[in-house]
Amino acid sequence: MHSSPRRCQKALPNKVSRLFTTVRAVAIGRLTPSLESALVRRRMRGTNTLLNGSDENTPKSHRSMQTSTAATPKDAAAVILLKHNTRPDDPEVFLVKRSHKLAFLGGFHAFPGGQFDAVDAEVEVKNCDDADTCVAISCAARELFEETQILVARGGEALTQGQRLSLLDDLQTGRMSWPALLKHYELHLDANDFVFVGRWVTPPFSARRFDTWFFLVKCPAKQRAFISGDAELESGDWVSAKAAYDRWQRSEILAVPPVLHGLKTLAAGFRNDAEIDQELVARFLAGPNAHREPVRRIEFRPNYICFPVRTPTKPPATHTNCYLIYTSRELLVIDPGSPYEDEQEALAAAVAQLLAEGRKLSGILLTHVHPDHVGGVNALRASIGNANVLAHRLTAEALPDMAEARPSGRVAIESPQAKPSLTLGLLPHTVCLADEDTIELDGEPRIALRVMHTPGHARGHLCLYEARTGTLISGDNIVGLGSVLIDPPEGNMRDYLNSLARMRALPNLSVIFGGHGPAIANPYAKLDEYVAHRLDREQKILQAVRDGAATPKGIVTVVYTDVSPKAHAMAERAVLAHLEKLVEDGLVRETSDSLFLPNN
Ligand SMILES: [Zn+2]
Repeated sequence: MHSSPRRCQKALPNKVSRLFTTVRAVAIGRLTPSLESALVRRRMRGTNTLLNGSDENTPKSHRSMQTSTAATPKDAAAVILLKHNTRPDDPEVFLVKRSHKLAFLGGFHAFPGGQFDAVDAEVEVKNCDDADTCVAISCAARELFEETQILVARGGEALTQGQRLSLLDDLQTGRMSWPALLKHYELHLDANDFVFVGRWVTPPFSARRFDTWFFLVKCPAKQRAFISGDAELESGDWVSAKAAYDRWQRSEILAVPPVLHGLKTLAAGFRNDAEIDQELVARFLAGPNAHREPVRRIEFRPNYICFPVRTPTKPPATHTNCYLIYTSRELLVIDPGSPYEDEQEALAAAVAQLLAEGRKLSGILLTHVHPDHVGGVNALRASIGNANVLAHRLTAEALPDMAEARPSGRVAIESPQAKPSLTLGLLPHTVCLADEDTIELDGEPRIALRVMHTPGHARGHLCLYEARTGTLISGDNIVGLGSVLIDPPEGNMRDYLNSLARMRALPNLSVIFGGHGPAIANPYAKLDEYVAHRLDREQKILQAVRDGAATPKGIVTVVYTDVSPKAHAMAERAVLAHLEKLVEDGLVRETSDSLFLPNN
């Protein structure tokens, strides 16, 4: 059961072979997950916690397939709540954990907060002369109150916990609006209680984007923060910022960049507790990301940089996630997918920086053949030297090596999946990877990536699993937004379900880094959702066939009733994939004139 990397096309320099350690195939147990429980999973309502808006529950495959542009960020506010009289050298902050059931950033740690509400603008904020800041403060105070029961309003010092709960009840049941409630109880917001510490914009790789105002707020005396543990937030705790940041460094928690920045900044402490000192605020505001410039290097987990690059991909995605996995001594690049020069240059600069810090490039790994994952590989090789390309044999074969015919290497890939204008042919030095190979990166921390051949979306699709931290690089088999298209013959539904089952059987899975969209911190729930979605579709398609629909086109009109007609052509490809599986399962047969009929 040993396997070692095969040479696909050209001689492989000796130094590369030591990257790979042949390993014994690991028994991963039964491959069939509990599909029954997956089927009964309900999709949960969304949350409005930090960096999240109203969760969109539209089934993923129902969205329009036309070209999309990056979403416009929505205004939001968040509160970095400091414990009353906290120690300046080791400050404690209130950190919430988003429910695992949430589709977006479920399982992430965050600060309380949420989107602006129309009524937020009706609240008067004292000592605030900027209208936008007033609205942001009003939103921050309301969200903090709703999510944690902490009310930061002057005039409310004498309220008991019980009275505050009664106010909260008025607000949440809609008996009183936020402005009306403050007015009725003669409370007012004061800008001096909300110290502005930055505005962060969600990078464009996410379908949900927020322009979030962050405020540092000291928790009033004698108020207790409480999380109800409802559908939105799983828990909330006072934690040492230092301890929380250490937990992130140990790969125990996941957080988005502004939250990490907040924890790291607070972890360094501040001088006094009487006033939130200027030096601390300056550290919060240092760097362009705190001033609305989206983060490019997103490190949801240490040593795994997500570097989204703009690609001509399938909407709603607008970007493909390139991953830069690094140790103290080596760097592995995964899926440099952008055919656009500006994006290729940005990626090359990020790679060059990591190399300049003393690392060697181990190679460029391609998860699969699609143009939005391979479109920038030659440009990257051209800018950093002849790095090896690592891919499954089926991927390598679909990317013909035409470099010798056209020395520039700038030639189109002649693959059924690749649009020639979007991508380039591969240069030499392609190294083939096979199931159960291991890629080891030298240095600190030691990273051993188990290669998994996981066909379904594409025949040569690879996933990478790191057992130590439970990290899965899933390519396009699982994505952080949008749907996964299974398009025969490259796509195969039976293979896909088997691949999902194999991923579901991995032990200790703690995060999935997909080919598009944010990281997934609730991997098992997400995998169950994917399987349930496919089986639900399969049942509906089978029923449609039994009811007399005999062609993919006819089935789409019955089953995909909520899909825009523009997306029907793509839906037909997905239906065909399901039909092929149903034929293999013996539930449907295909006639000589390509009609699909039920078997009894
Ligand atoms: Zn793909």
